[in-house]
Amino acid sequence: MAVPNQKADDRMPARDDHPSSSTPASTQQGEPQPQLEELLDTHHDPAYGEAVQVAPLVQRVTATNPSPFTFAGTGTNIVGGRRVAVIDPRPDAAGHTEALLRTLEGRTVTHICITHTHSDHSPASRALAEATGAPVLGFGPHPAADAGRHGAAAKAVQEEPGDWDFVPDGVLGHGDVVAGDGWTLECLYTPGHISNHLCFALPEEQALFTGDHVMGWSSTIVPPPDGNLGDYLRSLELLIARGDRDGVYWPTHGPPITAPNRFARALLAHRHRRTDQILACLGDGPATIPAMVARMYTTTPKVLHPAAALSVLAHLIHLSEEGTVTWDPAADMPAATYALA
Ligand SMILES: [Zn+2]
Repeated sequence: MAVPNQKADDRMPARDDHPSSSTPASTQQGEPQPQLEELLDTHHDPAYGEAVQVAPLVQRVTATNPSPFTFAGTGTNIVGGRRVAVIDPRPDAAGHTEALLRTLEGRTVTHICITHTHSDHSPASRALAEATGAPVLGFGPHPAADAGRHGAAAKAVQEEPGDWDFVPDGVLGHGDVVAGDGWTLECLYTPGHISNHLCFALPEEQALFTGDHVMGWSSTIVPPPDGNLGDYLRSLELLIARGDRDGVYWPTHGPPITAPNRFARALLAHRHRRTDQILACLGDGPATIPAMVARMYTTTPKVLHPAAALSVLAHLIHLSEEGTVTWDPAADMPAATYALA
């Protein structure tokens, strides 16, 4: 897909022409909250196909699947020393699994952990399980609701198709612990981007593997109807509430996030600013999604407007769930006119 290397939602101007966007959000302590755009790190040059030791217990191997939606590619994390867990083994493309197996030579894979079932994360899990005998662990199969992505806007940003064949050997939920040889992975249930998303905390290193829930190079797409903004915001608050238990986030795509709590707070503030912008638009009268996108995303390339529309839809669904916004129930949500309740 010929779009710039952006993950769509809203690398888009939180700072556009709307007055509410210039008001800095505050943290609970009252200090100014940095704008998300100031914290994003889009410089990342992985050594493709090689295992890079990034922390005493963590190696990363990046797959050669860079794209506007996977950024530099899928970063598979290998946790442990001689007996390891593999997190997000990558897409099942020619050569990917073989490259991963080469980097694992001489070691034993005891667990294969999946953050979620998008096609750039989980598909190689079955081949890796067959080659190593390790069980595949995840929240569950790909969610049925994802088949109903909303309308033309969703079609325009079909970034990560679902891994409909995914079946875990063991199911993980919030609070479950995967104990290995010198390492522990604690599961956090973090729906939002997709309803089966897990993050994995590695307390031995104060590290959190955040999958696509929090990424350092871009905000995350929350594609309705399975993607849910209310869930996403709660999942961000879950991470924020962990305070300094996490010293670093390792997203599946892109560089680590080394001031993670600050970053998560900036992401949350960014979403709240967008909500404020939408409410301000509707305060001037009922509006359609294209009209709101044209007004709010003034400095965003037009090619990203379908992705912006999907993001605005996610916000409107959330606002309608809260009872703040209504829409004409005779119309499809993407085509509807929205108004303040
Ligand atoms: Zn994903």
